Amino acid sequence: MTRLERLAAGLEDPLLVTSRVNVRYLVGLDSSNAALLVEPDGETSLFTDSRYALRAGAVQGVAFRQTRRNVVGELAELLAGRRVGVEGATLTVAQWETLRAGGVEPVLTQGVVERLRAVKDPGEIDALRAAAALSDLLFDELARQRFAGRTERELAWWIERRFRELGAEKVAFDVLVAAGVNGASPHAEVRDVPIPPGTLVTVDAGCVVDGYCSDCTRTFATGELPGQLAEIYALCRQAQQAGLDAVGPGVGGRDADAASRNPIQEAGYGEAYGHGMGHGIGLEVHEAPALRPESEDVLEAGNVVSVEPGIYLPGVGGVRIEDQVLVTEHGAERLTAFTKDLLTVG
Ligand code: ZN
Ligand code: ZN
Repeated sequence: MTRLERLAAGLEDPLLVTSRVNVRYLVGLDSSNAALLVEPDGETSLFTDSRYALRAGAVQGVAFRQTRRNVVGELAELLAGRRVGVEGATLTVAQWETLRAGGVEPVLTQGVVERLRAVKDPGEIDALRAAAALSDLLFDELARQRFAGRTERELAWWIERRFRELGAEKVAFDVLVAAGVNGASPHAEVRDVPIPPGTLVTVDAGCVVDGYCSDCTRTFATGELPGQLAEIYALCRQAQQAGLDAVGPGVGGRDADAASRNPIQEAGYGEAYGHGMGHGIGLEVHEAPALRPESEDVLEAGNVVSVEPGIYLPGVGGVRIEDQVLVTEHGAERLTAFTKDLLTVG
């Protein structure tokens, strides 16, 4: 079945798809201003303005209709009197009002296309493998770079440039380099200050290959570490392995999370691990399913998720170790293969 057929098979009302990434996933058109109307019988119409008309007209299996710039405004007229599902995560309140004012009955939906996207097909898995392999190359080169004395920002730019030189389309998200006390923030701001010796440096970076993201974190040492930093590195690595071991088909997102959380809690650092263990990765770097304490998701073969516990000690430093893994029929396969031994860099 095609992606559109799989989507249509689960619909009661027609679904108006306005999420850029969902439109791209369903019909392959990347546009900042396009919408799809998918009927429960599978009939699909694509709407966009003249800037995208040439590409939209070439999309197979859909009826293309060129609209004015305000796509939703025109759809409000075209769909007047109909009940139509809309995507709660992306349709704006103003667009909702436009539809209602035009006589459309919008029905809130959440995560309909995202649930399909969570299970990757072979072509998507190939792209995710390629992105992860490129990330491995990058980390391998990075480990031979000098850290101490260079600023976090310099190193972050080196990573971004190197990803492009190695063939990535772009970076998947802003490169994170957080040294010393800055590493105590899971999403630290990259600073213009030199990386000190004798501390931990967290590097979280990813690239995009064929539209698909990689996401990998390693934490490096810039020389001999104070005892507590060495201790939390070893603990984080153990917890990350426990998380990896727990990932498999049929496992709850919350149970996988707990597997990585328990060893950290037992060691007395539970408060220092505030975020969830992981997230799905695909066309977007954060997507379904969720692996965190409140997750209702259940993992299935074809999911590609991160496993990334961390320990963050304000005023001291932090560590995070992240791999990207494919859920298989029987367990999980790591896509990022770079070593997790504590590496000391210059
Ligand atoms: Zn990451
Ligand atoms: Zn991540």
